[in-house]
Amino acid sequence: MIVVFKEQTPKNEIEKFEAKMKELGVELHESQGSKYFILGLVGDTSNIDPSRIQSNRNVEKLVFVQEPYKKANRMFKPEDTVIDVEGRKIGKGFFNVIAGPCSVETEEQVVGIAKSVKKSGASFLRGGAFKPRTSPYSFQGLGEKGLEFLITAKKETGLPIVSELMSPQQVEKYADKIDIVQIGARNMQNFDLLKVVGQINKPILLKRGMSATIEDLLMAAEYIMSRGNDNIILCERGIRSFQKVTRNVLDLSAIPVIKKKSHLPVIVDPSHASGLWWLVEPMAKAAVAAGADGVMVEVHNDPDNALCDGQQSIKPQRFDNLMNILKKYIEIENRQLS
Ligand code: PEP
Ligand code: MN
Repeated sequence: MIVVFKEQTPKNEIEKFEAKMKELGVELHESQGSKYFILGLVGDTSNIDPSRIQSNRNVEKLVFVQEPYKKANRMFKPEDTVIDVEGRKIGKGFFNVIAGPCSVETEEQVVGIAKSVKKSGASFLRGGAFKPRTSPYSFQGLGEKGLEFLITAKKETGLPIVSELMSPQQVEKYADKIDIVQIGARNMQNFDLLKVVGQINKPILLKRGMSATIEDLLMAAEYIMSRGNDNIILCERGIRSFQKVTRNVLDLSAIPVIKKKSHLPVIVDPSHASGLWWLVEPMAKAAVAAGADGVMVEVHNDPDNALCDGQQSIKPQRFDNLMNILKKYIEIENRQLS
């Protein structure tokens, strides 16, 4: 349920209303729009009599939210969420490019890639230290050592880091070392993990599960938000289909759909969505045109010998070309590179 207050409703009247609602056992979610103050009522609303709210002279209207996600819902917060990470803004017209290797392999590798993507204009460095691999025999990531190498790369370039954590224990131990904590596609519905990242003070990059609906994704965001962490960036990274040419199918329409339904920023990962390096550029361009707030691209200095996802990684020179192209697209779309 959403209560929209009339313009210029006195603050003490809103506070009185809020106190009454709290007594009835609902959780409140405030949002100050440019014109109206909006109050979201979440949880058990069975004790609330809608007609009493409607008859309140300060209430402009009462809206019933059908969707199961509330805090992630644009009806609860009509204005776009903007996330600030060390001065880099994500969402609401700002476009971010996150780039780096699938996995951190050596210090030289990640520092070298960080320097070149920074030069080309990336705003964040990505790199997996803990890797969710399909096969237990594949490279599982360098773990803590990988995070140390990422921190060195950050020190050398100033690029904030995005890295995946896979368990509540890892979040407790390592979240402080990372600027944006990635929750991977395979963990999008790991609810214990979502609850834990809901309690930390770090932005979360939440990737869409490979067979998750848009509602599933928004409900995963709701899990995190319901615990108090509102800084979530959603990521469309392709979904499973029947064709075998590409690794996944990039669901481009998910971007405008999510933007309509939610206020959270949405980025696209053209690397995992396609699985092929030569599809990264066209899919990244399409992502800008579809309204994404950024892209996350895998870049590797030696893709042929990469320990993970070499076939979908582009070399630094190709990334530089991509950035030059994307800059033009971003301008056409009236967005600003962060
Ligand atoms: C990744 O970003 O390296 C990754 C494993 O992605 P996803 O969870 O989307 O497969
Ligand atoms: Mn990867």
